[in-house]
Amino acid sequence: MEKKMTWKELIVGDILEGGTSLKFKTGNWRSKRPVHIPEKCINCLICWISCPDDAIIVDKENGKFLSFNYDYCKGCGICAYECPKKAIEMKEETV
Ligand code: SF4
Ligand code: SF4
Repeated sequence: MEKKMTWKELIVGDILEGGTSLKFKTGNWRSKRPVHIPEKCINCLICWISCPDDAIIVDKENGKFLSFNYDYCKGCGICAYECPKKAIEMKEETV
């Protein structure tokens, strides 16, 4: 059995390489998935500001909601909670 490293073996002041979170797709942690309801959306982008994982994609051409980045969305539901028009619903993840 492989021996695990303990905290005593960590290097003091160790710094991880920057930008590494992009390498790890964390969307498979999700148990609920946000679903956009375009008819209700007013494109205020409060969801985009609120998402802690930068998982909401905005159309750069027109500054409107485009989609969710399900590779990184962890399903926290903050976007749905903050949306003033209830234009995001959290659904059970099926995959
Ligand atoms: S917060 Fe709601 S209404 Fe505003 S852009 Fe996002 S989905 Fe649309
Ligand atoms: S559910 Fe959470 S992680 Fe996913 S898009 Fe909404 S705020 Fe971002």
